[in-house]
Amino acid sequence: MGLFDKFKDFKNQVNAVENHLYSGKKDFLEIYERNAQLELEIEERTNELNEANRRMLTLQHIWEMMNSSKPLSSILDTTVNNLQGELGYMHSCILQRRNDENGEYYSMMAASDDNLFEIVNSKLDTPLNTQRLNFQKSDVIKAVLRSKEILQSTDLRAGLLSLAPELKEEDLEELLSETHCRSFMIVPLSKMTHTGILIVMSSRLEATEAEIDFLKLFSQQIELAITIADLFQMVREQAVTDALTTLYNRRFFEESIEKEFVRANRQKQPFSVIGIDLDHLKQINDKYGHVYGDLAIKQISSVLKQNARSIDVPARIGGEEFNVLLPGIDSKGAMIAAERIRKAIEATPIETVGTITASLGVATFLEHANNVEELLELTDQAMYNSKRNGRNQVTLATPISEVSWQEVALNAFNDILATGRVNVSEDLKQDLRHKLQMAIEQNSNPKDTLYSVADALVTTYNPQHTLGSSKSKVVMATTLARRFELEKDDADKLRVAMLLYDVGNLMLPQEILQKDGPLTDDERNYIENHPMLAAHDLLEPISTVKDIIPIIEKHHENWDGSGYPNKLAGNDIPLSSQIILIIDAYFALTEPRIYRKAKTPYEALDIIKEDANKKWNSTLVNEFVKLIELELRKAKA
Ligand code: GH3
Ligand code: MG
Repeated sequence: MGLFDKFKDFKNQVNAVENHLYSGKKDFLEIYERNAQLELEIEERTNELNEANRRMLTLQHIWEMMNSSKPLSSILDTTVNNLQGELGYMHSCILQRRNDENGEYYSMMAASDDNLFEIVNSKLDTPLNTQRLNFQKSDVIKAVLRSKEILQSTDLRAGLLSLAPELKEEDLEELLSETHCRSFMIVPLSKMTHTGILIVMSSRLEATEAEIDFLKLFSQQIELAITIADLFQMVREQAVTDALTTLYNRRFFEESIEKEFVRANRQKQPFSVIGIDLDHLKQINDKYGHVYGDLAIKQISSVLKQNARSIDVPARIGGEEFNVLLPGIDSKGAMIAAERIRKAIEATPIETVGTITASLGVATFLEHANNVEELLELTDQAMYNSKRNGRNQVTLATPISEVSWQEVALNAFNDILATGRVNVSEDLKQDLRHKLQMAIEQNSNPKDTLYSVADALVTTYNPQHTLGSSKSKVVMATTLARRFELEKDDADKLRVAMLLYDVGNLMLPQEILQKDGPLTDDERNYIENHPMLAAHDLLEPISTVKDIIPIIEKHHENWDGSGYPNKLAGNDIPLSSQIILIIDAYFALTEPRIYRKAKTPYEALDIIKEDANKKWNSTLVNEFVKLIELELRKAKA
């Protein structure tokens, strides 16, 4: 090959390389350009993904909260704050539609934690979240409620006024000038049922389509949360069983007994209630812990279930208190059922604790009472009698009409002495309780026992007490009750109150009782007020005498309003309280005191007459004077 040919060949090769290089460069440029574009796209997509991810997380967060047991208000609070923080809204709030007897209204369930709502609230008489919100026809909010469409607006003034129409012009100006908000959106929560609205405020003028789509999704979650919370509430209200024991609950028991009452009353058939209370649960709790206390409760529950017929209603009424309703069963059958339950409880020891026992009471409709309230009261009383007599036993109720006032009083004295809180020597206490128990059990000489116990107790705080006056007081009260035509029930209460009105004195400290000289103001004040508080404390736990407490508490009130503790006057004071006041005064006057001699009966009557229409009603004074004068004439004859 000649040089020329070589050169040509070389040039061709160079050209080829050049061509190759050129096309490579072109390719490279193309690729480079494409890459740059892709990168941009990737960045955009990543941003979108991040945004979507954040929104998903927000939704997920809300969803998780909805599945927790948090109350609705706390879920919605977190929701608005999430919305505000993560999605860049300046403020947001949720209003829920409500209904009550006064009609429909909206209430602010949640508002973001920011100064806007704080400032608005500070300008209003009542904060927004405590208001019943109602919207005017011309309101922006009303428009959304009507159309159920999302509304976007830059008219912040209209938005604020719709929410808080009572905002003053200058406050509104201040708010508008300070806020960086430029627009707001009202989103109806109306996908399923119409439950409310979500309001968001933003520093952007307009929302993107994606944002609006997201808000729609978001509002559905909120609506779901509200709907679920409402459902939970409904389910809770409709529950008929108790969670710990799966026995029926109190509400179901009450409904059942009302139904059974209607049926039994129509067909004049009996039904019975067994009341059961675990013995010494407090000790079990204290000694072994609450878990074992709960175990004892469950043990009783399973015994009740095993022993129930299908139509019986075994129920947990309170902590350790159970009732079984026995439709169609008379007291004989109920006593057998109760005894079977008692034995089964005793026969089934529980882990670690060992044997547990319960006290039971039985009462039967028509045999013991003819209405539900009294029947349950009697079941309770019977159960307490089982406790009082040593626990682990069944007691049948005593019909209300057969419980005499003497028995009520005997049992009350017995209970008072049993509390151990009274200032009575141990010997005397034992002696008196023995007497009371004999009288209660054997029904022997209940009145004599009653008066002798009452006298003995009064003597402990009033050594000048005339023995026998407890009886005289009750007899006088009975006569006055007849003169004023008190109903039997009220007369019985008066007699019991006449024996118990001063029991609070049993708790007075010895140093005041035995003081020789005059009392200081503090001591006098103590003597005036303390016994009544003490009487209340002592008598409140005794269900059979609970209703005489008001009579006792008013027996130092004067007819003209000058008495204590409440300065009641005239007919606001029960007649029974006035009767106690006048009889008490008469006996106090005719007994000697350390600082004065005893008055004669006539002197005492003169003093009482002087206070007619002051301390006591004058009609009462006339009757009382007649009564005493008659007694005195009889005594002379
Ligand atoms: P009693 O024989 O006089 O009935 O004595 P008690 O200790 O059972 O009765 P008391 O009324 O003095 O105390 C009842 C105790 O029962 C007090 C309370 O702490 C406990 N208790 C109530 N409900 C529950 C419960 O659900 N679980 C547990 N473990 N204890 C309960
Ligand atoms: Mg108990």
